[in-house]
Amino acid sequence: MNAVVVGGGLAGVAAALELADGGADVTLLEARPRLGGATFSVERDGLWLDNGQHVFLRCFTAYRELLRRLGVEDKVVLQQRLDIPVLGPGGRRAQLRRSGLPAPFHLVGAIAQYGFLSPLERLRVLPAARALGRLDLDDPELDERTFADWLGEHGQSARAVAALWNLITLPAVNLPAEEASLALGAMVFKVGLLDEADAGDLGYAAVPLQQLHGDAAVRALADTGVEVRTRTRVVELPAADAVVLAVPHEEAAGLVPGLERVRGLGFSPILNVHVVYDRRVCEHDFAAGLGSPAQFVFDRTASSGLGRGQYLAVSVSGASDHADRTLDDLRAEFLPALAELFPAARAARVERFFVTREPEATFRATPGTRALRPATTAVEGLYLAGAWTDTGWPATMEGAVRSGLAAARAALAQRDPDELVALSHKAPQTA
Ligand SMILES: Cc1cc2nc3c(=O)[nH]c(=O)nc-3n(C[C@H](O)[C@H](O)[C@H](O)COP(=O)(O)OP(=O)(O)OC[C@H]3O[C@@H](n4cnc5c(N)ncnc54)[C@H](O)[C@@H]3O)c2cc1C
Repeated sequence: MNAVVVGGGLAGVAAALELADGGADVTLLEARPRLGGATFSVERDGLWLDNGQHVFLRCFTAYRELLRRLGVEDKVVLQQRLDIPVLGPGGRRAQLRRSGLPAPFHLVGAIAQYGFLSPLERLRVLPAARALGRLDLDDPELDERTFADWLGEHGQSARAVAALWNLITLPAVNLPAEEASLALGAMVFKVGLLDEADAGDLGYAAVPLQQLHGDAAVRALADTGVEVRTRTRVVELPAADAVVLAVPHEEAAGLVPGLERVRGLGFSPILNVHVVYDRRVCEHDFAAGLGSPAQFVFDRTASSGLGRGQYLAVSVSGASDHADRTLDDLRAEFLPALAELFPAARAARVERFFVTREPEATFRATPGTRALRPATTAVEGLYLAGAWTDTGWPATMEGAVRSGLAAARAALAQRDPDELVALSHKAPQTA
C-alpha cells in the first residue's frame, strides 16, 4: 500500500510513523521548511524562543509514546506530583499540590488550603467535582452549554470559576469556562484530574520545541523509511492508496469538497510574551498568575541557551483581547504585571522583550463545536487527522497524536486483503 500524509505537525508525524510501521510505503508532504507544525522554535539574537509554551499531562499517553518513539522522552520534565505555585498581586500565593491519596481525594488537601477562595467556596468545590466526575462525556447535551453555566449551577461562585476552574480550563481548552463548551471543560477535569490521581502531573519541554518534535521527527521518519518532502504545499489531494490529511481545519476545508462546515470551528488565539532580565527574578520553574494578565509564567533560561540573567516566557491563552495590541502596549501591560508577581523584577533591567502571536492557535471550543468536528472517516481512501477532528479532546498535542494514529490505523485496516497476506508471509523472513 502506498500512503501520502499531508501535513507534518504532530498528527501527520504520528500517522506517517504508524503507517510505515504497518508496512505502508509512506511519503509525507509539508508546506513549511520544517516539521512540528504548531509547535516550533525560532532563534532571535542567539536565543531560542518557542512559538508558545507547551504543556502536557501524564495522561497524554499517546503523546508521551510518540516522544519515546522519537527518542526524546528524556528531553522533557514531568512532575512527580502535580504542583502549581499560584501567585497573586500583593504577594498572595498558594500551592495546588496533589497528595499521594487516590483520586479524587488527592486534591482535597490542596483545595482546603487554597487561600484564593473563601472557606465556603472551598467547601463547595468537592461536591461540584463529584458531580462533574459523574457526567457522561458522550452525552450530546454537554455540548449545548458553557462550562461556567454548569459550574454556577453547581454552587461555584464567579470568583471560584476565575481563581480555580479557569486556572486549568483556560490553558487546556484555550477559552475561559464562560465561553468553553461543558463537554470539553468536563473532559479536561475528568480525564486530567479526577479519574486517576497522577493523570494531571504536568510536563513540558526541557529543550526548544523544534528539537523536541520537528528535528527528532525528521530523524525518526528517515530511520523508518518515510520520504519527507518539506516546502511542498499541497493544493489538491494527491493520488495514493491512502491519503491522510493532517492539516489545520481551514486548510482541510479548502482541499476536501463537502467539508465546508469545519470552518465554523473558528480560532482561538494564544499570545506569548518573552522577557529577558539581567538577573534571576523568579524562583519557580513555572507559576500561575491570578488577577494578572500573566496567566502562566515559565522559566525558559536553560532551554533557550541564555548564559546570564533569566528568561521568562508568559503564556496567555484565549487571547482574543490581545490580538491587536502593539508591542509597546503589551510591554506597558506585562512588565508591571510581572513585577507585581515577582518583586525582584522591579529592580532588574529588561534586556529583551519579544512577543509571539498565534492567532489561529486552536479551534474555538465553544458549545456546538462537537457536531462540527469530523471523525476520521474514509472517503475513498481519504482519512482526516488533526487536533480539530473529533477526538473527544480539546485541541492539544494529545488530540493531534491520537487523531494521526486513528487515521493511520483506519487506513491500514482498509488495505487490500492480498497485501495483508503478502505481509504476513514476509514477516517471518524479516524476523
Ligand atoms: C502557541 C500555542 C500553544 C499551545 N499550547 C499547547 C499546550 O500547552 N498543550 C497542548 O497539548 N497543546 C497546545 N497547543 C496546541 C497544539 O500545539 C496543537 O493542537 C497541535 O500541535 C496540532 O497538531 P496538528 O498536527 O493537528 O496540526 P498542526 O501542528 O497545525 O500541523 C499541520 C501541518 O500541516 C501543514 N500544512 C498546512 N497546509 C498544508 C498544505 N496545503 N500542504 C502541506 N502541508 C500543509 C502545516 O504547515 C503544519 O505543519 C498550543 C498551540 C499553540 C499554537
